[in-house]
This record gives sequence, structure tokens and C-alpha cells, in this order.
Amino acid sequence: MIKLAGISKAFGKQLVLQNIDLTVRKGEVVVILGPSGSGKTTLLRCMNFLERPSSGEVTIGDFTVNCKRPAKKDIHTLRGKTAMVFQQYNLFKHKTVLENVMEGLIVAQKMPKEEARARSAEVLLKVGLSGKLDAYPSQLSGGQQQRVGIARALVLNPEVILFDEPTSALDPELVGEVLAVIRKIAKEGITMIIVTHEMSFAREVSNHVVFMDGGVIVEEGKPGELFHSPKEERTKQFLKRIT
Ligand code: ADP
Repeated sequence: MIKLAGISKAFGKQLVLQNIDLTVRKGEVVVILGPSGSGKTTLLRCMNFLERPSSGEVTIGDFTVNCKRPAKKDIHTLRGKTAMVFQQYNLFKHKTVLENVMEGLIVAQKMPKEEARARSAEVLLKVGLSGKLDAYPSQLSGGQQQRVGIARALVLNPEVILFDEPTSALDPELVGEVLAVIRKIAKEGITMIIVTHEMSFAREVSNHVVFMDGGVIVEEGKPGELFHSPKEERTKQFLKRIT
């Protein structure tokens, strides 16, 4: 379903990803863990070419993009198969909640406005925001804003949703409501790749866990195995530090 083959990424002379291979099956929820600076966010951003890999290729479904001189339209096609939820929500401040969610359908998918409105309202109901359709982002809590961010990704019906530390900008008391929404959509069988530091959530929601350090995948496996009996010393140390 998703395949990364030989992905490397350098920023100047700094090599932040080294030859990453990763396969994600349809419907799988993959959590990426690792210390700060290990390359998790960069890897996620390479999957939709928000960062262009220095080498390697990305396959989503039946579509492959190679990092060597990719055509703009190929990057566009690849991005159309993904949606991303950002740390900082990235909402349009001057649009209402409903308009924020409709935007992608109208602009990227050229859906007629009325249909986009109905579909967006439906998804906002799912994330518990049906009472806030006409509110502006500044009138919402961080948790509510992030739920709009999730609705905006979900409404596009992408092949995969990429979550980049979706709760790290939130006050602790608002984390739970966002995790609850992610948990709910995970149960619907949507393929998701999640970078997070929320360990108990990671353990509970994932089918597969990837541990990164220093730009490489140190270890990956089922959550039960990786959390309870990690094989690699670096994984053990990391888990000991944060749990
Ligand atoms: P993580 O998500 O695991 O914290 P990142 O992928 O954000 O790690 O960063 C990996 C490394 O790449 C870090 O050393 C970071 O400073 C560097 N890096 C990330 N983005 C850029 C960029 N746009 N320009 C230069 N260096 C970057």
C-alpha cells in the first residue's frame, strides 16, 4: 500500500535520513517513535514530498515517485493520495470551521460547493464539532482547532493520513479529546502514520511501531513486542527514559 525504498535526506551536509525502507499495509496504523532530532518529521514529510528526498522512491497505492527529477504533476498526484495533520493545525484564520474543511474539496478535488458543504458538515459531526461550523479558529480551543485539522484531512478521503505530532502543541488537558478522535478514525480502517510522543496512546492505537534514532530505523515490530521486549539497546534506553 505504501512503500518507502532507500529514502535518504540531507540538509546541506547533514544527513538526517539514511536509506530508509518501510512498508505499510492498507488499514494499518503505524506509529513512529524516537528521540527529538532522529528524523521522524522529515521522514513523514518525505512521504508526500513536502521534503524532497535526496534519494529513494515513495510508492502510495499503485503510484511511485522517484526523487530524481520528479515531475510536478507526479508530486501533485502523490500528494492527492495523502493528507497531513500538522502540529500547529495550519488553519485559515479568516475562514470559518466549515470553510476550512470545505477548502480542500473545492480547490483540490473541484467538488461542487453544496456537496462539499454537506460532506464537510458530516465529517465535522464525526470529530464532535457540529456546533462550531460558523466559528473562526481564534474562537476555538487548541484541541478543537486540531480536531478541525483532522476533519480537513479526513474529508479528502485520502489513502493515508500523516499525523505530525498532532498533540504536541496542546495544553495537557486538551490532548485527550484529540487522541480520542484519532482513536475513533483508526477503528474505521483508514491507513495512518503517526509521529507522537504519547506512549500509551501509541501502544493502544498502533498495529505497527517504528523506532528511529539518528536517521535510521533501529527497530520495528508489533506494539506488544516492541514495547514489552525491545531487542535493540537504543530502543530499550529510549523506552526506559520516557515511560
Ligand atoms: P524529529 O521529528 O525526530 O524531531 P526532524 O525530522 O524534525 O526530527 O529533524 C531531523 C534533523 O534534521 C534535525 O537535526 C533537524 O535539525 C534537521 N532538520 C529538519 N528540518 C530541517 C530543515 N528544513 N533544514 C535544515 N535542517 C533540518
